[in-house]
Amino acid sequence: MLQKICRTFKRRGQTIGVVPTMGFLHEGHQSLLKKARPQCDVLVLTIFVNPTQFGPREDYKKYPRHTKRDLAIAGREKVDLVFLPKVSDLYPAGYQTYVEPTGLSRELCGKSRPGHFRGVTTIVAKLFNIISPNTAFFGLKDFQQFAILCQMVKDLDFGIKMIGIPTLREKDGLAMSSRNAYLNPVERKAALCLIGGLKRVRQEIIKGNKNMMRLNSLVRSKIRKEKLARLDYAECVHAQTLQPLKKYERGKTLFALAVFIGKTRLIDNIVI
Ligand code: AMP
Repeated sequence: MLQKICRTFKRRGQTIGVVPTMGFLHEGHQSLLKKARPQCDVLVLTIFVNPTQFGPREDYKKYPRHTKRDLAIAGREKVDLVFLPKVSDLYPAGYQTYVEPTGLSRELCGKSRPGHFRGVTTIVAKLFNIISPNTAFFGLKDFQQFAILCQMVKDLDFGIKMIGIPTLREKDGLAMSSRNAYLNPVERKAALCLIGGLKRVRQEIIKGNKNMMRLNSLVRSKIRKEKLARLDYAECVHAQTLQPLKKYERGKTLFALAVFIGKTRLIDNIVI
C-alpha cells in the first residue's frame, strides 16, 4: 500500500525524504525531522521497533513506546506520512531474507551486540524498498550505524542520498535517547560519565596529548570510578574505517563509548 503511494509521488516528480525511527520520539528525532522537512516534497517518518536488531537478552519487549505522542510530534513537524507497521507486516510468517553487513559492522557495537547491525541493515533496506526515498536522514549519535548504512547504500546501489545529523544533547550534555527514559534520577546523574569522558578526550587533544592509547586508558579509568557504570567499550578509531587509531588525526578521530548505567546501555561519541 505505502509502496504504491510512494511510487505515485515519484511518478509525479515529487521528492521523498525519510526519517526511520523506533518511536518514543524526543528532540533528537525532531531535529532530524526539522532538517529533513525543507529538503523534500514528501516527508515520511517511520516508527517501528525492529525485533531483528535486538539480541535475545536485550530490551525489545520493554522498549518504550508512545504512539499517540509520537503522532502529535509528527503533526507539529509537518510530516506528510507516518509509517507504523506491525511486526507481521514486515516479517510475515515464512520470512527468511536478511542483509548481512561485514567490515564496519564487526567493530565497536558489533562486538558486544552480535547480529544487531544485520537487523538494522535488513530493516532499513526494506524501508528503502517500500518508500523509495531520494534522501534519508540519520543521527550521528549512532555513528557506526550511519557508516554501515552509507556503505550498504553504496554497495547495493540504492541511489539514496544519506544525511547524518549531529547529536542533540540535554543541557548538561547527555545525548538524547529513548533509552534515557529507563534511568532513575541517580542513574541519570551517573550517565554524565559518558559526556564527561568525551569532553576530557577533547581537552587532552587540545592540550597536545595525542597518544590515543593513553587517552583511552584515561577515559576507561574515569568511567570505572562511576559506581553505577559498567564499561562496554571505549575506543578511539578512524572515523571512516572504524579501525583503532594510535595517533590523533585531525577531523578523522572518532572516540566512541558504550556504557551500562545500571541495566541501561548508552552510547555516545565525538569526532575530533
Ligand atoms: P532510534 O529511534 O533510537 O532508532 O533513532 C532514530 C534516529 O534518530 C537514528 O538515526 C538516530 O541516530 C537518531 N537519533 C537518536 N538520538 C538522537 C540524538 N540525540 N540526536 C540526533 N539524532 C538522534
